[in-house]
Amino acid sequence: MREIVQAACPHDCPDTCAMHVTVEQQGGKRIAVHVAGDPSHPPTAGTLCTKVSRYLERTYHPDRVLRPLRRIGKKGAGRFEAVSWDRALDEIAQRLGAIAARDPQGIVPYSYAGTMGLVQGESMAQRFFNRLGASRLDRTICASAGGEALLYTLGVRQGTDLEQFQNSRQIIFWGANAVASNLHLWSRAQEAKRRGARLIAIDPYRSLTAERCHEHIAPLPGTDGALAMGLIHVLIREGWLDRRYIEDHTLGFEALAERALDYDPARVAQICSISASAVERLAQEYWQVRPTVIRLNYGMQRAHGGGSAVRAIACLPALAGHWRDPAGGLLLSSSGAFAVNEAGLTRPELLGKRTPRTINMSTIGEALHRASPPIEALIVYNSNPVAVAPQSAQVAQGFAREDLFTVVLEHFLTDTADYADFVLPATTQLEHLDVHRSYGHLYQVANNPAIEPLGEAAPNSEIFRRLAGKMGFTDECFQESDEEIAAQAFLSCGSAPYDWQGLRSQGWQRLDLPADYAPFAQGNFPTPSGRCEFYSQRLADLGLDPLPDYVAPYEGPVSTPALAQRFPLAIISPPARNFLNSSFANVQSLRGTEGEPRLDMHPIDAAARGIADGDMVEVFNDRGSFCLRARVCERPRLGVVVALSIWWKKLAADGKNANEVTHQRLTDLGRAASFYDCLVEVRRAAK
Ligand code: SF4
Repeated sequence: MREIVQAACPHDCPDTCAMHVTVEQQGGKRIAVHVAGDPSHPPTAGTLCTKVSRYLERTYHPDRVLRPLRRIGKKGAGRFEAVSWDRALDEIAQRLGAIAARDPQGIVPYSYAGTMGLVQGESMAQRFFNRLGASRLDRTICASAGGEALLYTLGVRQGTDLEQFQNSRQIIFWGANAVASNLHLWSRAQEAKRRGARLIAIDPYRSLTAERCHEHIAPLPGTDGALAMGLIHVLIREGWLDRRYIEDHTLGFEALAERALDYDPARVAQICSISASAVERLAQEYWQVRPTVIRLNYGMQRAHGGGSAVRAIACLPALAGHWRDPAGGLLLSSSGAFAVNEAGLTRPELLGKRTPRTINMSTIGEALHRASPPIEALIVYNSNPVAVAPQSAQVAQGFAREDLFTVVLEHFLTDTADYADFVLPATTQLEHLDVHRSYGHLYQVANNPAIEPLGEAAPNSEIFRRLAGKMGFTDECFQESDEEIAAQAFLSCGSAPYDWQGLRSQGWQRLDLPADYAPFAQGNFPTPSGRCEFYSQRLADLGLDPLPDYVAPYEGPVSTPALAQRFPLAIISPPARNFLNSSFANVQSLRGTEGEPRLDMHPIDAAARGIADGDMVEVFNDRGSFCLRARVCERPRLGVVVALSIWWKKLAADGKNANEVTHQRLTDLGRAASFYDCLVEVRRAAK
């Protein structure tokens, strides 16, 4: 007998697809035999990306960790013995208890978006760490520079409704490779194109998206802020301004206009290494074609000035009046539209009067060596820091510390799990219950368990529930079931009440917002002034620049000329189409499609180094090196090399990936990692 279970994609992707999982009874067991998109889910309309259409291959992968494992080899060697849950949890509780008795801040949770679910993400886990008084984690590795920039400018992480993009007349993909990482927005852009809309890409790399746009502008990485300031300069110089909107709904126009005087197109062209005419033309198109919407994505904020750059870009729709139309404006994230019940999920009251220190996940390599008090235990879930955190060699050295006690909740023996003292088997999305918001559309999505947990795997929530029991935490919140947690995950559904049971049976629910939702058509910015804040008093009060500006990269010919002489190429490592961060890199069919780690290099850069297409090359700087195969092509602009990522280090021939060369310096806002602010040199690898 076949049954279709209503589910949700859990991965770190703005689309948050509603899924149908087909389940059969085989030998008395429920077996998932097919996953597909839910055709009735309006934003995603029944299409899953290639990665998640292989979800069964991931769930039933022969390498799944299905029993608790205890380390028997050297840290990093990945040698373990299977142990019982009782033995694993007893020993973990005893080790954590001893550390907590000295100072619970010695215990650090490390987690991110391995699942985006509100139940299996930071609910029971955060309750556990709050009760313990463990260090807090500043979850900055991906999106916090842009996220904070939106909060300071618009007052909320919100933007244009995905379901309006097909009505736009012009879509600017700014640092956004929608074909690879925002599939359903791309379908709407295709529809807009069929209706005559113009598509423009701004990206140092001729991505799959950029090659399908009418126009592609390729600034140097980390210079997007200068380009945005140049556009502001031209809009103001030409009087291409919605003066009424500016007067009624913005704050700080005069100060912004004065700042923008410094960014005439000739100077911007020099900073970005593009033509001045491209800046002039883009500004004119931005003003004349209405409505225009900007699809901004997170790649461009992974540089020193990433926060300021997003602030500058977020000023554009208010200047030109594009927010007036539901199909105009800007979308970086829609997550702020959801009223998540953070306090109900995570129970901050369990901390009592304690105010533990905060460890920034983007500088975990530093922290493992220098934090005071020292990090004595790491509990890793929903993340693979040894592969994904910057300056990987230092991160791996930290994880290799013999005095560090490490527990990893995982599906597979990842680069990080190899360093664990205990690996605890976690369930996949098909095996547990969850509920999701989205950061790309306006729907809550439910995930019903389709099958029983495989082997001895348990949901994250259950693992922390059991651990809380072993630690003697008797607070009532540790008894709550996943169902009860899901039922309190949201405070509302837009202006309607949140109805978990209804959501669970239907699978998805649009927030109660109008069909032609235009969040800032009438202003209503939830900033302190109620206006779009070009000038931010909150930033001024923090001693930070209250206006948007261009902040030069940490590493570049202007900031560090001597370094740029030795390492003249900028490297970026955006997502490979068949991977999602480091997830799926071990799924054979997807890895087969990606082939092997490759470095895309412009023919002129390759020729200058005697490198031919297909050569093995070494990418290096003072922090480290890694080897991969050169693909000589015109996708990267001159002076930029691109390593599509993120490969597991242990699956690469040299055991390394692109994070060997990245650094741990932080963005100007949001304390985020600046992965794409990195200079390297490339040479042919020794045979
Ligand atoms: S990764 Fe994104 S596009 Fe792919 S199934 Fe999940 S939500 Fe949909």
